[in-house]
Amino acid sequence: RHFNFCAGPAALPTAVLERAQAEMLDYHGRGLSVMEMSHRSDEFVAIAEQAESDFRELLGVPDNYRVLFLQGGASLQFAMLPMNLLGKGGSANFIQTGIWGKKALAEIKRLELPYHVAADSAANGFTAVPRPQEIQLSKDACYAHYTANETIGGLAYDYTPALTRADGSEVPLVCDMSSSILSAPLDVSKFGVIYAGAQKNIGPAGLTLVVVRDDLLDQARTGIPTLFDYKGISEAGSMVNTPPTYAWYLAGLVFQWLKHDVGGLEAMAKINQRKAEKLYAAIDRSDFYSNPIKVANRSIMNLPFVLADAALDSAFLAEANAAGLLNLKGHRSVGGMRASLYNAVPEEGVDALVAFMADFEQRKG
Ligand code: PLP
Repeated sequence: RHFNFCAGPAALPTAVLERAQAEMLDYHGRGLSVMEMSHRSDEFVAIAEQAESDFRELLGVPDNYRVLFLQGGASLQFAMLPMNLLGKGGSANFIQTGIWGKKALAEIKRLELPYHVAADSAANGFTAVPRPQEIQLSKDACYAHYTANETIGGLAYDYTPALTRADGSEVPLVCDMSSSILSAPLDVSKFGVIYAGAQKNIGPAGLTLVVVRDDLLDQARTGIPTLFDYKGISEAGSMVNTPPTYAWYLAGLVFQWLKHDVGGLEAMAKINQRKAEKLYAAIDRSDFYSNPIKVANRSIMNLPFVLADAALDSAFLAEANAAGLLNLKGHRSVGGMRASLYNAVPEEGVDALVAFMADFEQRKG
């Protein structure tokens, strides 16, 4: 297998794919594939429950939070969140640090629901996240939404905002963790809602996880569709209708891999930190490559970089591809390169990329 630096759908651990392959035709002697099982069968319910329990254990999800296994991608959450949280009045506040936050905001505008932009990093070109004192909530703030890791810009928070109203009450934090969940330990109790599309650190595309605090389940607007209603979904164990069963099962295998092969999120975080440090060191070593993000806010998951001479971009990508280093092209909106170093990208992949970059620079620089 080649090294895959895709931003999503992203690399999956080889050990997970091998296990899925071994169980593909005949799951544990049942004579059928997980893909062919009823979602209501004892076998599948056991798979689903084990996956949730492993996810909870990995992240230390407190008992007063529900974990929902949904479809529609993280993008559907941009709309489901205001539908579920703004039923008792107030506005959604947004802390903007890049393209994904902008898309979340666009969705609430479409719904014509109240919002307020509490901070925006546009002024610094999205190279640094707002400091706590720069976040100005509206008086009627019902919740505050932010993107922990902007996948396209490679911009990540180095702190978790703790936001309060003038009377000292908590403003629930809602966080898009699509591209950073499970990359490091997390204190879930600081959040009202965490959500993530699966196709980076969780599993294959087609599944979205939402972690929601119990007390936020009674804030929904009336008349929202059954399939958008967190409370109903939670009460039905994420099986209001047919869930994405195979993606759910594969996510479960990823959680097992994280627990048993990697040794948990502390161990994963150390590996991720080391991988990112190696690549940033390679980028910073000379003027041939560069990354504009403030050091404290550099993402350890998505590392964008540009070549000083953009005319070399296509040669860089073609040669990297030929060397088995796949999907390094930057997002179409920003150009340049981007290496996504999610959990499943092995450290040897980063070593190979760093060696390739040095060699390319020596020949072309
Ligand atoms: N939010 C972030 C931070 C993302 O990186 C992405 C996709 O890359 C999305 C949201 C959208 O996810 P989806 O394609 O699952 O809707």
